[in-house]
This record gives sequence, C-alpha cells and structure tokens, in this order.
Amino acid sequence: MARQTLSLRRRLRKRLRAAGAGVTRYVGNHPLVAGVAGTLIAVAMAGLTLLTLGTGRADALDHARQTSQNLVAIISGDLARNVEIYDLSLQAMVDGARDNVAATLPADVRRAVLFDRATTAAYLGGAYLIGPKGEVIASQNDDVNDAVRLADRDYFLVHQRSPTVGLYFSHPFRSRLRDGKLSVGLTRRIDDASGAFAGVALLAIRIEYFQHLLDRIDTGQLGSVFIVMDDGTLLARKPFVPRDIGSSMAKSPTFERMSAHTAGTYVARSSMDGVRRMYTYARVPGTPLIAAVAPSVDEVLAPWWHRSRIAGAMTLAFGAVFVTVSWLLAFALRDKLRAQAALLRLAATDPLTGLGNRRVLDNRLDEEWRRAQRSGQPLSVLFIDVDHFKHFNDAYGHASGDEALITVAECISAAVRRSVDVVARYGGEEFAVVLPDTAAEGALSVAEKIRRKVQGRDVVQSDGAPVTVTVSVGCATCVPAMGESAHDLLAAADRQLYAAKAGGRNRTCSAQWAAASVAQDSSA
Ligand code: GH3
Ligand code: MG
Ligand code: MG
Repeated sequence: MARQTLSLRRRLRKRLRAAGAGVTRYVGNHPLVAGVAGTLIAVAMAGLTLLTLGTGRADALDHARQTSQNLVAIISGDLARNVEIYDLSLQAMVDGARDNVAATLPADVRRAVLFDRATTAAYLGGAYLIGPKGEVIASQNDDVNDAVRLADRDYFLVHQRSPTVGLYFSHPFRSRLRDGKLSVGLTRRIDDASGAFAGVALLAIRIEYFQHLLDRIDTGQLGSVFIVMDDGTLLARKPFVPRDIGSSMAKSPTFERMSAHTAGTYVARSSMDGVRRMYTYARVPGTPLIAAVAPSVDEVLAPWWHRSRIAGAMTLAFGAVFVTVSWLLAFALRDKLRAQAALLRLAATDPLTGLGNRRVLDNRLDEEWRRAQRSGQPLSVLFIDVDHFKHFNDAYGHASGDEALITVAECISAAVRRSVDVVARYGGEEFAVVLPDTAAEGALSVAEKIRRKVQGRDVVQSDGAPVTVTVSVGCATCVPAMGESAHDLLAAADRQLYAAKAGGRNRTCSAQWAAASVAQDSSA
C-alpha cells in the first residue's frame, strides 16, 4: 500500500513537473526583455556620454587652436610691422649713403640725415653703414671702430654677391661693436652710382626683442612659444633656454612639418623636451620668420579630463544601478509570471491524473462549439465512465482505485493525440473528450481505441497482482446550430454512456445528433 502511494506520488510529481516546464518555457523569456532593455538603455546612455565627452575633447582642442592662431597672428603682426618700420629706416640709410651732398655735410648733421629716430628704438642694438671692404663707415651713435671688419658676415657676403637680395634678415651673430651681444641683422645693399657694390646698411636688432615679444604670452607650465627662421635657426623661445637660442632645429620632425606650409596646426611630441604639444604656426609676411605657439596637449585637455572623469564615473555608477535594478525587476517579474502560470495551471489541472479539470472542459467545449458553429464542421464529445468502480474501490482499496484512474487517464491521453483535442476529468471516475472537426465515425473509432486500451492495460496492486478495469463510452456528434448549446451535446453523450452501461458495460454507444434532441443511436 505504502509502495503504491509512493509510486503514485512520483508519477503525479512527474506529470506536474512536465506541465510546469512547458509553462515556464512559454513565459520564461519575456520578462527578461526588461533586463535586456534596461541594459541597452544604459549602454545607449553611456554611448551618448562618450559622444558628448568626445565632442567636448574636440571643442577643447579647437578652442586651443583658435587661441593659438590669435596669438600667432599677434606675434606675427608685431614682427611684420616692426620689420617694415626698420626697413624704411634702412632704405633712408641706403639713400643717404648714396647722396653725394650728404657726404659733404658735417659728421653730426650727416648722422642725423642717415639715421632717423626709429633707429633709437628700445631693442635696436645699432644702425651702421658698412663700406665695401667690411669696414664701418658710419654709426647712429658714433661708436665707429676702425679696426672692426665685417666682411665675413653672412649679410655682407650675400649683398656682395647679389644686387637683387633686397631686405636681408641675417642669422644671429655676436656683435663685434657691442661687446658680443647676440643680435640679428636687418640689411640692405648700397650700390654706387655705377651699380657696383658699395657696402651694406645694417640695423642690428637685439635678440631680446624677440624674447620680449614672447614673454607676454602665457602658454601654461608645459606650453611653448617660439620664433624660428625658415632654415630652422631658433631666435627666441619661451620657456627661455639661453643655449638653444641660435641653435638649429632644422632636423626636428616638428620643424620639418612647419617648414613645408605657410600656416597650420598639428600635434606632435617635442624633440627638445618630449612634451606632446599642439603646434600652431604661421610665416611672418615679408620676413623669413615663423611664429609658433604650442600649448601642451595635456594642459589643454586637463579641464576636459577633470569633467570627463566626473561625468564618466557618474555615468558608470548610474548605469550600473540602472542595469542592476532592471535585471532585479526582470527576475522578479519572471518569478511572478512563473508563479502565476503555475497557479493557473494548478487551477486548471486535476491533481490526480494531471488532465484538465471540469473548468477546462467547460471553457474549451464552449470555444470549440462556437468555432464549429462558425466553420460548420462537426464536433464530437466522448463521455467515459469506469465500470463498477465502486466495487473496484471496495475490493482493492482507494489507493488502487486512484492508480486505476491514472491508468485510464493515460490510456485516454495515449488514444487522443491531436493538439486541438481536449481530454478532461469530468469528476469521480468520469472523463470527457472533446474532438473538434471530427465526424461520428472518427469519434466512435477514438472511443473504441480508448476502450480497448483500457481493457488491455493492467492496474498493478500493492501485492503485485494485476487487475483489469473496463470503461463504457458514450459518443455524441453534431454540427452546431443556432439555438443549441454545448451542454446539449454533452448531455447527448451522457445519454449514450447510460445506453452503453445499460447495454452491458465495456462498450461504446454513439449518437449522430443532427437537430435538437433528435438522436440516431447505434452501438458498437
Ligand atoms: P457503473 O459501472 O454503473 O459506473 O458503476 P460504478 O460503481 O462505477 O458507479 P458509481 O458512479 O456509482 O461509482 C463511482 C465510484 O467511483 C464512487 C467512488 O467510490 C469512486 N470514486 C469517485 N472518485 C474517485 C476517486 O477520485 N478515487 C477513487 N479511488 N475512487 C473514486
Ligand atoms: Mg460514475
Ligand atoms: Mg462507474
């Protein structure tokens, strides 16, 4: 008895699990959409933040480039204007040197004619007329040193060789007239009346002039600003490193890019100190000079980095919370739906046999009735009742009776295989089967199949002895018409069941039911 109850419970659990698994598979994945959607939203938000940060980075670099361009324009404008003014003085010096009348004037008057007031500017080291042998002929402040020869200077040689050089910008040199001070010469050639080389007019600009121009520009702690000649000779640089002034940066990759274009911006690592900078440069019009402003990329991006770290951390934190909450909600929803589905399934399932219960039968029968009304197809119902079951219970006990009911349920399920068919326990030892789109012959055949299966199956007793049970089946078939109900069809099947009982049991009776209460009975 105990073994039998155990086996019964095991089979029941198996049936319920099988039914439950189906329900779980059906609804299990949908609630997770909330988690997936939450994750996607968080990823989209993170993407949006990244996009915004990326734009912010580009804006920061763009802003730095514009500022650098403005600074380069200011430096360049200052240089071009001063060189233009100095050139006017140079041209006056050249004209004065060629003027025969001026040569006859007293020395101090001649100086005043040759050297205008511009030559006394703050950063001008001196203004000189140099003779054809490199000797100093005249000086703006009368400090002519007869012993000094300047014939080896680049500016002297250039003008000596060619009459068409015009304004020449010399390389930095240490002055022989002013205690070796580092200067740059602005020069023009002096021709005599026949066009032959008669010397050079020289304005010596102190190198501090260029440095002073740069001192006023703030480029941060790691930034750099410099003025370089187009052959790579460095004239001034901030931060100021004295030994770099006059040195050549022609081989530096940063300069190579600069020398190839008139103006531009690029990011490169400095060959001098290894700092990554954004170089913005432009050639100074009318001169061989290039002015460049190069703030450190790290310093330019420092405020952006600060903002990005905060925004990134907040996005990550909020995103993580959002994703976690989404998944918690998704799992909670999934568990709730699973529980609901299990409850619904339990409410619709007969606990002993695992078949649908009376409620399922009523609902499905009504549905199929309406469907058959619309389609005009026949609908069949089987009513199955175990024969002499009271006696069976009395003889073998209720546990064996339950075992017998489960066996009968299995036989019915095995015989009724279409997914649209409905098998339900009507109550007690009675079962019902709804067969949509099935004519009387088909229904009778299914009923017979069930009856034979039950008859052929043994119900095993607690003592191991097999017992056979039989069933009687009533069949009713109709094409639903208006004014009738599904319960009329069920009642007709019930009447056939009683006919089968009356006919001796373990048999099938069928009614082809065409109109209300009109039945054509037949028995198998
Ligand atoms: P008949 O051939 O005329 O149908 O005879 P019967 O004994 O089967 O008729 P009846 O409907 O009077 O008996 C039904 C019996 O089925 C009553 C009850 O002992 C038994 N029964 C109903 N439900 C259950 C159940 O869930 N488990 C068990 N073991 N027996 C049940
Ligand atoms: Mg009964
Ligand atoms: Mg019975």
